[in-house]
Amino acid sequence: MWQGKKLGILGGGQLGTMLVRSAIDFGLQVFVLDKNPDAPCSRYTGNFVAGDLMDYETVMAFGRMVEVLTIEIEAVNVAALRDLASEGIIIAPDADLIGTIQDKWTQKQALLSAGIPVVPGISIADRKSLYALPDKLPGCLKLRTQGYDGNGVMMLHTPSDFDRAFDAPCVLEELVQIDRELAVIVCRNAQGDIVCYDPVQMVLDGERHLLDYQLCPASITAGQSDEARDIATRVAISMNLVGILAVEMFLTSEGKILVNELAPRPHNSGHHTIEACNTSQYEQLLRAALGLPLGDTAIIQPSVMVNILEPEPPGRKALENGLSEMLGQPGTHIHWYGKPAGRPGRKMGHITITGRTLVEVLEKATDIRSLVRN
Ligand code: ADP
Repeated sequence: MWQGKKLGILGGGQLGTMLVRSAIDFGLQVFVLDKNPDAPCSRYTGNFVAGDLMDYETVMAFGRMVEVLTIEIEAVNVAALRDLASEGIIIAPDADLIGTIQDKWTQKQALLSAGIPVVPGISIADRKSLYALPDKLPGCLKLRTQGYDGNGVMMLHTPSDFDRAFDAPCVLEELVQIDRELAVIVCRNAQGDIVCYDPVQMVLDGERHLLDYQLCPASITAGQSDEARDIATRVAISMNLVGILAVEMFLTSEGKILVNELAPRPHNSGHHTIEACNTSQYEQLLRAALGLPLGDTAIIQPSVMVNILEPEPPGRKALENGLSEMLGQPGTHIHWYGKPAGRPGRKMGHITITGRTLVEVLEKATDIRSLVRN
């Protein structure tokens, strides 16, 4: 029986709050652990615990309060998850998968050994070892652990760039000529059933290298869409996934699809699934973790998702007024994360715009994009 079960979420950010909404629909009792006592989830459960997700004892004590444990961030103590599983607590996704993914090098090795096409790269111990590798330029240097949202990634073009490179274990990848950035969310339950969402496309702002908007479905051919879904499915099977997994990919200028990186949790690239698909990624994760049949992933309507970033200080009032006005447009759905006003550029929410056609949603998104950029 799943009704009334105690669900624990490691991480209390906005992805957690959207998962809490679905957990309420399933009648679950929700427990959340996050270091920040003011994390967005703290407002939505009486069972919020402030504590360090990387601390073994903290995660053990929290995990023992629940029956099913999942994550909304991958920086968690994996040894504790292993021990909790041996005590009979259901961990989805499991500790081995999270452990593999926490390190971009072990992640790449696991993908390679499963025959998945990845961006070619080598492991680098520290900054000084880069100086022996000028022939690897141009390249993309990534911290093996703890990178997020583009922090922990830098482009290296000439040997003089080595002077400002990360001085930590890294992966040095070939610089890919990217035609499109895609993501596919795949979900698998313990019975081995698998479902896959249609690929979405991340359109970046060339100047600032930030997400401009995300498009669903991606503007790619049916063959490319099938290939992307097939890759995601193979990744899920090879990693013995129970839960959901976002597979970020590059469609190269030569037409190849390469896996960039994995996130075994609800992901930004699945924000739109709440309004645009038959089953949201959050509900899907709960179905997988509870051993239930998986939901239909079909797109109900095309969508565009735009992040709302904290503006430079004088812009806050205009942003708030502009957002209220936007809500007058049909098919405009707001997700305001309720974070305290932060540094400019911080993600404060997102808007999903749905409509009958991609052309229509793109047109509707024009105003919101310019509002959010300013
Ligand atoms: P993060 O997890 O921090 O977002 P990513 O691996 O997704 O890091 O990289 C951030 C962005 O950098 C990608 O969205 C892509 O635009 C660019 N990028 C990453 N790897 C490469 C690469 N090997 N070649 C070219 N561009 C890359």
